[in-house]
Amino acid sequence: MVSSSLEELSITADVLIVGGGMAGAWAAVSAAQAGARVVLADKGYCGTSGVTAAAGPGHWWVPPDPPTARDAVVANRVAAGLGLGEAEWMYRILDQTWRTLPTLAPSYKFGVDDEGRVNYRAVRGPEYMRALRQHVLNHGVTILDHSPVIELLARADGSIGGARGQRRQDGGRAYRIEAGAVVLAAGGTSFLSHLLGSRTNTGDGYLMAAEAGAELSGMEFTAAYTIAPAHSTMTRSMAYAFATYSDADGNELDLPFGPDQTVRLARALQRGPVYCLLDRLPDDIKVRLHTISPNVPLVFDRWGVDPYRDRFEVTLHNDGTIRGIGGVRVHDLDCATSVPGLFVAGDNASREKVAGAISGGGNVNSAWALSSGTFAGRAAARVARGTKARLTELRPLGRAGLRPRGLPKAVDVASARDVVRAQMHPFDKNLFRTEKGLTESARVLEDLWREVANHGQDGSIALRETAALLATARWSVATAAARKESRGLHRREDYPARDPQLAGRLLSSGLDQVRVALDRPSASVRPDQLEAVS
Ligand SMILES: Cc1cc2nc3c(=O)[nH]c(=O)nc-3n(C[C@H](O)[C@H](O)[C@H](O)COP(=O)(O)OP(=O)(O)OC[C@H]3O[C@@H](n4cnc5c(N)ncnc54)[C@H](O)[C@@H]3O)c2cc1C
Repeated sequence: MVSSSLEELSITADVLIVGGGMAGAWAAVSAAQAGARVVLADKGYCGTSGVTAAAGPGHWWVPPDPPTARDAVVANRVAAGLGLGEAEWMYRILDQTWRTLPTLAPSYKFGVDDEGRVNYRAVRGPEYMRALRQHVLNHGVTILDHSPVIELLARADGSIGGARGQRRQDGGRAYRIEAGAVVLAAGGTSFLSHLLGSRTNTGDGYLMAAEAGAELSGMEFTAAYTIAPAHSTMTRSMAYAFATYSDADGNELDLPFGPDQTVRLARALQRGPVYCLLDRLPDDIKVRLHTISPNVPLVFDRWGVDPYRDRFEVTLHNDGTIRGIGGVRVHDLDCATSVPGLFVAGDNASREKVAGAISGGGNVNSAWALSSGTFAGRAAARVARGTKARLTELRPLGRAGLRPRGLPKAVDVASARDVVRAQMHPFDKNLFRTEKGLTESARVLEDLWREVANHGQDGSIALRETAALLATARWSVATAAARKESRGLHRREDYPARDPQLAGRLLSSGLDQVRVALDRPSASVRPDQLEAVS
C-alpha cells in the first residue's frame, strides 16, 4: 500500500478521506465497514484538531417512538428553515444518528441522566474525538496526521482519483495518494476569527472542490456570530441563555435570549463595550459546569473572575460557515458532489438541506456531520470498488498559490489574511449587509484574488490556506450580493424583508470568475433577479 522515494511518498487506497474531525472519522469508519482500504489525512492530529474536539457537541437526538415526536421536530425545523430545509433529509439524519452514535460505546463512556438513562445526545468533545480516533483505527484505517492535503488529482475523464499533500512532521515531504474515490471532510471556516477550535479550518475543502468543478451552495449564510468573554476564544454559548447584560455605565441592556439576541448584541457592541453576568444560571448547571463543559469555567478561573457575581466584558466572534451553513453542494442522497468520485461531508458540505436558512449549531450540525460522513464513506467505498481505471495518469488540479498564470512573485500571506478578516468579520460588513458594503468588499477581495492567483506559486500550506480563505470570502460576498432580501442568517439592511421569489438556494462556483445562480429555480423567479457578481 505504501511505497516511497526520496521525493514523494506514494500511497494507494480505495478511499481517501480528507479531514479527521467528526465527519471525516465517521466517513472513514463507514468506508472501512463497506470493505474499503481507507486512508484518512488530517492537517492536524485526528482526535484533537477541528471544531468538534474543543466543543461539547449536542446531537439532534429524537427516539423513533413515538413517531409523532420526530414528525413534530422535523415540522418545526422545516418551518424555521424558511424554505431551504428538506424534511426527507432531516428524517434521514435523525435516523442515522440514532443508529450510529451508540456504536461508539465500546470506546466512549456515554453519560447517564438522573433517572439512569444513557445520554447519547450530548457528548464531551475531547473524549468523543479521542474515542472516534480509536474507533477509526479499530477499523483498520491508516491515519496520516499532520499531513494537510494541498490539492486533488483527477483522471483523464475528470473523475477524482486522489490527492497530494505534505507531511509536516517529515520535513514537509510531499505525499501522493491514489484512490478510487475521495471524501472531502475538511470542515468549514470562520475566516480565522477566534472561534474555538477553528484555527486549522481555512476552507481548503471548498477551494479543492471548486477547482475540481463542484458548486457551492448557501455561501451567503456566513453571518453567524457567537458570544465569548472578550479576549478569549471560548465560544461555547449555553450559559449565556441565563445572562444579564449592561453597558460601560452599568445600565442594563435589553438583550433577551432568543433568535435576535446576536443582532441586538452586535448593535450594542457597535455603541460601546458590553458586560455580562451569568447570574441566572440555575444552580444545578453551575454545579455540573466543570464536568459538562470544563473549558468554559477554566477561562474565568484563570482570570480570577466569578462570572455569577462579577461583570465581565463580552464580544462576538464570526462563525463563518461553521455555525453558518454554506459549503459544497450535496448532489444526491450519497453526499456525492457533481464531480464523479468526489464526496463531501460535515461542514465541508452545505447544510441547507437539514438546517435551512438558519444555523445548524446546537444539534443539527453534529447529526449532519455523523450522518453525511456515514453516507459519503459508504458510497465512496462502492464507487471505488467499481473504479477500474486506476492506472491512468493523474492530473493535479490546484491553481491559486500553486500554479500562477503570470509572473511568480512573493505574496504577503499575513496581510492577505488580514484583508480577508477585514471583509468578513466586522458587523457593518458581514452582519448588517448593504449593496454598497458588499460591492466594496467584492472589489477588495477581487484585487487580492488576482494577486494570489496570478502570482502566488510557492505551494506552501500557508499560501494555499490563504487562497482558500480568499476564495471562500469571494463566494460568500457574491452570493450575499445576489440575495436581495433578508432570510435567516442573511440580513440585508437595504432589503429587510423576505422575498418569496427568492425562496430557493443560491449556488456559487468558479474561481477567477465567480458565478451565482438559483438552484431549482421556481417558476415565479425571474432570471434578471440575480446578478452574476464577479
Ligand atoms: C464551540 C463550538 C461548539 C459547537 N457545538 C455544537 C453543538 O453542540 N451541536 C452541533 O450540532 N454543532 C455544534 N458545533 C458545530 C459542530 O461542532 C460542527 O458542525 C462539526 O463538528 C463539524 O465537524 P467536521 O468534521 O465537519 O469539521 P471539523 O471537526 O472542524 O473537522 C475538520 C477537520 O479537517 C481538517 N482539515 C482542514 N483542512 C485540511 C486539509 N487541507 N487537509 C487535511 N485535513 C484538513 C482539520 O484539521 C479538522 O481536523 C459547534 C461548533 C463550535 C465551534
